[in-house]
Amino acid sequence: MTIHLYQNDLPDGLSFGSIVAIDTETMGLDPRRDRLCVVQLSAGDGHAHLVQIARGQTRAPNLERLLADPAVLKLFHFGRFDIAMLQRAFGVRTAPVWCTKIASRLVRTFTDRHGLKYLLQELVGVDVSKAQQTSDWGSTTLTDAQRDYAASDVLYLHKLKIELEAILRREGRLDLAQRCFDFLPTRAELDLLGWDEPNDIFHH
Ligand code: MN
Repeated sequence: MTIHLYQNDLPDGLSFGSIVAIDTETMGLDPRRDRLCVVQLSAGDGHAHLVQIARGQTRAPNLERLLADPAVLKLFHFGRFDIAMLQRAFGVRTAPVWCTKIASRLVRTFTDRHGLKYLLQELVGVDVSKAQQTSDWGSTTLTDAQRDYAASDVLYLHKLKIELEAILRREGRLDLAQRCFDFLPTRAELDLLGWDEPNDIFHH
């Protein structure tokens, strides 16, 4: 595994192929209150690219271009949050997207465990530490432990997608999953507009 660290944006000319795994680290769990601190990306090739976002930063042209690129699938775990965060930070609508948490919820109905750590253990056979999950991501200098943690959240998503896609296909829910993924950027936008729980428009 190799970790590359950048400030403010991806470097020019960096390509991730047709599927890029993305995760974000933030100051907290409210995309309307808490700022974006780090965006992690991987092509699934053992390299993790970490972009630190400065406080008050509103543009990241290379990153924005990738997020909006219709030819590149953006792969998340619980993308609803990351997509909202990225839209709030840069005003960009991330699409097309795929979400390993939604995929798991649609087929692994025998369990209520859909966390990334658990899924990676069960389906990919790798153990990732969640020890740094709640650390201070706004710090200008990230610790080695933070870098390793941030990287581990994107390094194995491609493998996880392959496993989940096979189960979705087997259970006849791949098309349903696809339609959920297509809706996800809109779901994230609704969250930003205030229609998150308990005002979710799909609730009674
Ligand atoms: Mn993460």
